[in-house]
Amino acid sequence: VAMALTGCGGGAQNEPADPPAAEGDGFAADAVIGVALPWLGTQNWAEADQMFKDQLEAAGFKAIVQHADNKVPQQQQQIESMIQNGAKVIVVGPVDGSQLGAVLEEAEAAGIKIIGYDRLIENTTGVDGVVQFGSVKTGELQGQALLDGLAAVKGEGPYNIELFGGGPADPNAPNFFKGAMKVLQPKIDDGTLVVVSGQTDFTQCATMDWDNSKAQARMDSLLSGFYADKEIHGVLSPNDGIARAIITASEQAGQQLPVVSGLDAENESVEWIWSGRQYSTVAKPTDVLVNKTIEIIKSLQAGNGMPAPDTTVNNGKKDVGVYELPPLVVTKENAKEAFANDPGRLELLK
Ligand code: BGC
Repeated sequence: VAMALTGCGGGAQNEPADPPAAEGDGFAADAVIGVALPWLGTQNWAEADQMFKDQLEAAGFKAIVQHADNKVPQQQQQIESMIQNGAKVIVVGPVDGSQLGAVLEEAEAAGIKIIGYDRLIENTTGVDGVVQFGSVKTGELQGQALLDGLAAVKGEGPYNIELFGGGPADPNAPNFFKGAMKVLQPKIDDGTLVVVSGQTDFTQCATMDWDNSKAQARMDSLLSGFYADKEIHGVLSPNDGIARAIITASEQAGQQLPVVSGLDAENESVEWIWSGRQYSTVAKPTDVLVNKTIEIIKSLQAGNGMPAPDTTVNNGKKDVGVYELPPLVVTKENAKEAFANDPGRLELLK
């Protein structure tokens, strides 16, 4: 049954709801598909917003694509209204991985399929699969890039470093950090790396709400508190926005440029990498994530169910299938190859 996008007019609310679709039933080729994004504060989410709008419409669906400005209640309301509007699939990049249980279980009970996008959805049965670049793997690549960069740029160790994490409500953030620490902890233990502040727990290093200005403030105070008469050689950064905040704080403190990792291949950081200001990023192309998600939606539409996942992860309530895509480290050295099929970013390498 096709439903209007907005719930105004003639008594539809009083009709009995369709019974939940059995696995494999499929749905109309012009069904409503909801996409609930957390915010548009980093380039990847802004790209996703546009690509989902364009590509869902191009595929013939009615798309409701919204973002929640990083606010949990707003995201809960948006998902609630996608349910009311008859969405057959809801794609969710959660603001907070563990705060959507109730509304997603309501969606599940209505027979709606729920796909986690980029971030895991935790502590609920209301999720049918997650599409993402492996988040622990991404962290490992960030840690390794920092180590490689230190050896390439700063000569022999030991190296003074500091560690930054992302927003603690985002399930990716502790996983990025965990992956990076798999690589870095042994080098801290053997004295190759020295975290001068001593701050090595995720909770000490996290950046509330992925807010770049909070990262910059923490970097300012680390530099004035611990590096007044010392060089800082490197910094682990969980994404590009925070990387640029760290680099800016270091420049303002009169430091030599530290080696800084990143994530997202944001345009501005691609330029900074090309000009030598940021050492590395990790590319996790939005079009690859969006295309994979739409492939799953089409499989559901055709009545073929969720495709077989690459792996599973336990979200606290169930084992969730993960469709895992490969992230790629980008430095100045491989940037041209890495962006060979991305004319927008290739254009920045001049
Ligand atoms: C995404 C990153 C993004 C960050 C902040 C994470 O969940 O994986 O690409 O930089 O959120 O928006």
